[in-house]
Amino acid sequence: MLDKAQTVLSQIEARGERLTIQRRVVIEVLCTSDSHLTIPSIQRQIEANFPKVGSLSEATIYRILEWLKKLGLVSQTDLGEAGITYSLLDHPRHHHLICLNCGMVFELDDTYFADLRQKLLADYGFLARIDHMAVYGQCKGCASDHEGASDPV
Ligand SMILES: [Zn+2]
Ligand SMILES: [Zn+2]
Repeated sequence: MLDKAQTVLSQIEARGERLTIQRRVVIEVLCTSDSHLTIPSIQRQIEANFPKVGSLSEATIYRILEWLKKLGLVSQTDLGEAGITYSLLDHPRHHHLICLNCGMVFELDDTYFADLRQKLLADYGFLARIDHMAVYGQCKGCASDHEGASDPV
């Protein structure tokens, strides 16, 4: 087992959470793969890498991901065309800008949200979990393409 997966599993155990085999394999897939995994891709990787566990339904995987989200270990982000993706929150925190026109996805540094987090805490006493945001809009290239032109819909 990878060190990363072992670390995450011990963190969860230390919190007194129950670790079923289904929960373990989902965590292992999240630790071994790239971030931004959709539920069907997690499902395929479990089938390919853990044949003994067998197939997990999308609903089961969804429930496990919801549990990991609640524990603050996983983020859920809608990346538009790429679908709803899940990532382990161990890498440097980042966010995305997504162009609704061309589908381009840019990575955004977390510093853009640092002030917002502090302000929400100061004004509302609200501890915002801005883990992995997707901000939709229009990229520079698309915005300039459309300048002066009428938008065909
Ligand atoms: Zn991301
Ligand atoms: Zn664009």
